[in-house]
Amino acid sequence: MTKRSIHWFRKGLRLHDNPALLAACENAVDVKPIFILDPWFASNARVGVNRWRFLLQTLQNLDQSLKKYNSRLHVVRGTPGEVFPELFKQWETTHLTFELDIEPYAKVRDAAVKSLAEKSGVEVMTFVSHTLYDTDKVIKANGGNPPLTYQRLQTVLSKMGAPPKPVEGPREIKTKIAANHDTEYGVPTMADLGKDDAECGPLLFPGGETEGLKRLDTMMKKTNWVCKFEKPKTEPNTLAPSTTVLSPYLKFGCVSARTFYHEVQKVYSQNKNHTQPPTSLLGQLFWREFYYVIASVSPNFDKMEGNPICTQVDWDDNTEYLNAWREGKTGYPFIDAIMVQLKTEGWIHHLARHAVACFLTRGDLWCHWEEGMNVFEEWLLDADWCLNAGNWMWLSASAFFHQYFRVYSPIVFGKKTDKDGNYIRKYLPQLKNFPTQYIYEPWTAPLKVQEKAGCIIGKDYPKRVVEHDKVREKNIKRMAEAYKKRKESSSKGITEKRKTEGSEDGTPKKKRKTGGNNSKITDFVKKSK
Ligand SMILES: Cc1cc2nc3c(=O)[nH]c(=O)nc-3n(C[C@H](O)[C@H](O)[C@H](O)COP(=O)(O)OP(=O)(O)OC[C@H]3O[C@@H](n4cnc5c(N)ncnc54)[C@H](O)[C@@H]3O)c2cc1C
Repeated sequence: MTKRSIHWFRKGLRLHDNPALLAACENAVDVKPIFILDPWFASNARVGVNRWRFLLQTLQNLDQSLKKYNSRLHVVRGTPGEVFPELFKQWETTHLTFELDIEPYAKVRDAAVKSLAEKSGVEVMTFVSHTLYDTDKVIKANGGNPPLTYQRLQTVLSKMGAPPKPVEGPREIKTKIAANHDTEYGVPTMADLGKDDAECGPLLFPGGETEGLKRLDTMMKKTNWVCKFEKPKTEPNTLAPSTTVLSPYLKFGCVSARTFYHEVQKVYSQNKNHTQPPTSLLGQLFWREFYYVIASVSPNFDKMEGNPICTQVDWDDNTEYLNAWREGKTGYPFIDAIMVQLKTEGWIHHLARHAVACFLTRGDLWCHWEEGMNVFEEWLLDADWCLNAGNWMWLSASAFFHQYFRVYSPIVFGKKTDKDGNYIRKYLPQLKNFPTQYIYEPWTAPLKVQEKAGCIIGKDYPKRVVEHDKVREKNIKRMAEAYKKRKESSSKGITEKRKTEGSEDGTPKKKRKTGGNNSKITDFVKKSK
């Protein structure tokens, strides 16, 4: 049989470590690399301009790289359901390949496409390459349950051995290119999508595999830094990022997580002394894996309701607070500077994410974590369904992390690493001339000082929306109440269920060391089996 393939790029926007693309190319006389741009998605999805720019740059880069093989990227417009039957016919396709995606909407989409392909007599081949491991295999190795703690994940992964080595790039890609390729299948511009380039922030992290691999290479050359990397010791408010900023490239799959992993291992192999998970650089990739594994089988992972691992909390519906947070107008300069950086540049440090997420939810404003997650989803270059929801649950002490009484101070936290407030002065220029003494608490500055600095609080910069010390106490009590309710409802269920089910960290029952209040989790585990 003459093999004619379509390789469907979705995430995994790269040529290196792309087993699905390799499979498409093997013995094929024609390979059509495609990316589907769904017009509905383009106008409705929560994607800010900076991420659109990143995606289009990534597609341009992919097209350029494919040109070196005398191939091209085909950007096809329409829904997968409309597009595929036509393409199968037009290109006489025999094989369709793509990378597995564990997000719920993707699972539904891919199942529908598979059945369309079957009807057209097209063979579908799928491969795992977005995560280090096959998430299903991790769950299987843990007795059929997702490991619900990092420690548990580490135990399971250590039994599974190192993640697969990245595969080589394709040797050849034979593509028959249509004469009207550019008009029919060219990569669109921002203007084509109705997006305004002028609304984008400075181009700090250009999209694409080439940029991603270059960034990875630059980081890996800093061998000492890689070996000494300890996440909690990196800083949220440095003017240049203190972590790798490989996240946007991992999100779109411009850089393979497995390539990243094995490059770090190479550095480690030449340096006996290096840090260890969870805080090491390799440990960061395991955090990614942790959330992916759980999200792959967890119902309603991006919601509070109907989400068995998430504590139910009576968050307020406070649009005024939410808007103040979103627009960087809470009156707390550290928080506001972070939100301005997020909106304009599309990337903020992990601990900066901690600060603003805690502030919005259990710390100060008592707004729903889903609202914060939605804002992050829009503005982050690296917005990732699994990591965003998982980390918001963590920070709001709704799942994974339970020490809700440990609240970040919006004043002290930033001061620790940036006493002079240079980060604040950069992102909130209206406070630029404020004396250091007041930069984290500008409302305490006497009027004369405010006048001299050219910034009147309440006029040129907002008054603080809440008094941290007061709301903190109140919120801890509300959180305690939510935990109490959770415990009560759990212990009701647990007497009936503990005989048959697993433990809170996902360990199969027979290995349980302590009892736990876990009826919700066990329900979830049961469903996911
Ligand atoms: C509220 C909140 C929301 C978040 N939303 C996202 C998101 O949508 N997309 C996203 O990629 N990350 C998210 N994170 C996780 C983390 O903040 C970022 O991955 C990290 O800051 C990216 O910067 P980096 O590439 O320099 O990280 P590095 O420290 O250099 O780490 C390397 C890679 O490890 C992974 N990683 C690091 N920390 C985490 C973590 N805590 N959880 C999962 N993976 C991690 C990322 O893929 C990252 O690129 C969120 C964190 C919080 C607190």
